[in-house]
Amino acid sequence: MKILENVDLSEYSYMKIGGTGKYLIEIEKDREIKDVHDFAMEKNLPIFSIGSGSNTIFSDKDHNMVFVKFKTSDIIKTYEDENFINLKVSAGVDWDDFVDWAVSNGYSGVECLSFIPGTIGASPIQNIGAYGQEVKDSILYVEVYEFETGNFYEIPNLECDFSYRDSIFKKNIGKFAVANVGFRLSKKDPAMPTYKDLSLYFLTQQTKNPSLKKIRQAVIEIRKQKLPDWQKEPNCGSFFKNPIVSNDLAQKLIKEYPDLPQYNAGDGKTKISGGWLIEKCGLKGKDFDGISVHNKSALVLVNKKDGNFKKLEKAIDEITKKVRDKFDIELETEPNLIK
Ligand SMILES: Cc1cc2nc3c(=O)[nH]c(=O)nc-3n(C[C@H](O)[C@H](O)[C@H](O)COP(=O)(O)OP(=O)(O)OC[C@H]3O[C@@H](n4cnc5c(N)ncnc54)[C@H](O)[C@@H]3O)c2cc1C
Repeated sequence: MKILENVDLSEYSYMKIGGTGKYLIEIEKDREIKDVHDFAMEKNLPIFSIGSGSNTIFSDKDHNMVFVKFKTSDIIKTYEDENFINLKVSAGVDWDDFVDWAVSNGYSGVECLSFIPGTIGASPIQNIGAYGQEVKDSILYVEVYEFETGNFYEIPNLECDFSYRDSIFKKNIGKFAVANVGFRLSKKDPAMPTYKDLSLYFLTQQTKNPSLKKIRQAVIEIRKQKLPDWQKEPNCGSFFKNPIVSNDLAQKLIKEYPDLPQYNAGDGKTKISGGWLIEKCGLKGKDFDGISVHNKSALVLVNKKDGNFKKLEKAIDEITKKVRDKFDIELETEPNLIK
């Protein structure tokens, strides 16, 4: 394992914000997490697992902690029949490299999740999702190291408590390190995507049964048009979750605002567009002292110039207050804010 000291945490967040981290340890074998745990206990410091930092923002202070980053890289076939393949994938594998690998080998289940930044280890944390797919639908189990007991074990899908951008892991940040994720992918041809932007894309192209490669290409093209390039404009993707409200409230809102985009979320609930709410408050493109609401996607906050955590918190307060005052809806942040 490689121990780095006093690291600049802004280099480990796509938002390019953050103070310093006392220790950052990179491991190339998943079992080394035990050694990192021993190291942290010896120093009496808390441990925090990080992936590529595309959904994490650190506050400006010095963080007296041990950060651990998996740099493991295996994709292992554990079972195969004529319809399915099961895989055990290391936490350190780049998410989009895995999707590219699956698509190139003809395995479906994650193609609509193309071009989402991040790592395999982080994918179950907020149950990543896009264009009608969620990672929970391809996960068999998550293999974790539990800090409290010092044991490795597999948590089967049904016990991961997956829901929209949530899981048992997100509810218990710091309890587990994800070491590997078990996936089950299909060898069958992919179903025609039903998500609006994608089906429109294929309708325009007059493609009836798009291949996995075509779906991946379409998702990448659409995402490039809609989302800012984090390398040029530092951001963590959607900054707020799309609020899930009761059907009654959604009905009331739709009467007043017929153009409000909404989706059935099941269980008597409706998911409404957070970006639309922010835009309707007149905040699209608005700059908050260097932190800006993106001018194409109002759900994304961008670190335009010299943003820091204090400025970010101020922007969050102002945006959530405006939405609360106008719609009586509480916006929830999506990235992990490490204060
Ligand atoms: C431009 C852009 C677009 C995005 N689009 C989407 C999208 O369409 N859909 C979507 O769902 N998300 C999206 N995201 C968010 C982000 O890509 C995902 O949440 C991704 O899974 C984060 O991966 P990461 O490795 O960067 O995680 P990090 O940001 O490093 O960590 C995220 C969380 O996971 C935890 N974690 C990371 N690795 C481990 C581990 N091994 N064990 C335990 N905990 C761990 C961290 O503690 C933290 O709580 C987007 C982000 C950006 C910047």
